[in-house]
Amino acid sequence: MLRRLLLKAAGNERIKDAALAVPLTRGVVARFVAGETTEDALDTCRLLSAEGLLVTVDHLGEDTTDRGHAEQVTAAYLELLAAIRAEGLGPSVEVSVKLSAIGQLLPGDGETVALEKARSISAAARNAGTTVTVDMEDHTTTDSTLSIVEELRKDFPSTGAVLQSYLRRTEADCERLAGSGSRIRLCKGAYAEPDEVAFSGADIDLAYVRCLKVLMQGQGYPMVATHDPRLVAIALDLASRNHRAPDSWELQMLHGIRPDEQRRLVAAGHQVRVYLPYGTDWYGYLVRRMAEKPSNLALFLKGLTSR
Ligand code: FAD
Repeated sequence: MLRRLLLKAAGNERIKDAALAVPLTRGVVARFVAGETTEDALDTCRLLSAEGLLVTVDHLGEDTTDRGHAEQVTAAYLELLAAIRAEGLGPSVEVSVKLSAIGQLLPGDGETVALEKARSISAAARNAGTTVTVDMEDHTTTDSTLSIVEELRKDFPSTGAVLQSYLRRTEADCERLAGSGSRIRLCKGAYAEPDEVAFSGADIDLAYVRCLKVLMQGQGYPMVATHDPRLVAIALDLASRNHRAPDSWELQMLHGIRPDEQRRLVAAGHQVRVYLPYGTDWYGYLVRRMAEKPSNLALFLKGLTSR
């Protein structure tokens, strides 16, 4: 119930405006977000890389409704990737991109705009010796997003896609996309979805395990995105049963969530990538984190009232 309410709030413009009127207080947001600027993101990338963690950087923002904003988001990624290139962070730092932030939902030619912008970001990523993973948003965008990833992979074969185990369709998508050269991030899914398209409760975890089996047995590169200790243990077991070399798959977690576990897994010889958001548009991202764990809501409210 609280999860559904919070996820509704994530898309509510009036609540968003009220929340954004509050200055970004480092104490509240910094646990999950690197900061506002490219330099903030790079500082955190350097620290994480020095600890042996891989990183995927996300410029915060979603649901762009004007072309100018899609341009700005694209420019921010190009600036970030130029800096990644200049610092030689390339192979271990990649970027994650939400297509709705670069125009996918614009009326008329939104998909074409998003594809064109994703191409220029992918070209900059390639110049920086790295790659792009395309985030997955709510189920109304799944087909469009997967078809844009398919297009991108023709020129940029290492482009990653995300699949969400809460969607009933996802096991079939895993079967279809687990082939050689594919990079698939598997997560549970973070949006409020209707029962017709999505599982709920324990069925999401069961579906996650089924999907993980398909990806681990497949020829691609699985990216196991979860903080769930049981699923991490199952992933480690499946990797071993499928004789996967340590560099043939990776675990992924969000910045600020189970940081000690991230480091423990690295020390145990596993590849772990941290999803690192930065930028001013932190509202939707943070509300989804609260929906996942209500104690984060208490932390957030405390921050708002103790300025
Ligand atoms: P849960 O059952 O939610 O949590 C398991 C345990 O992890 C909890 O008991 C708690 O100990 C810890 N935990 C989980 N969440 C939090 C939190 N917010 N704060 C503190 N502790 C927490 N979703 C999408 O829909 N599209 C995407 O493209 C996408 N990309 C992602 C990329 C990465 C690298 C990761 C890690 C997640 C991504 N997600 C994405 C979010 C994902 O779908 C889940 O909403 C999120 O990971 C929580 O699910 P969980 O697997 O960690 O399990």
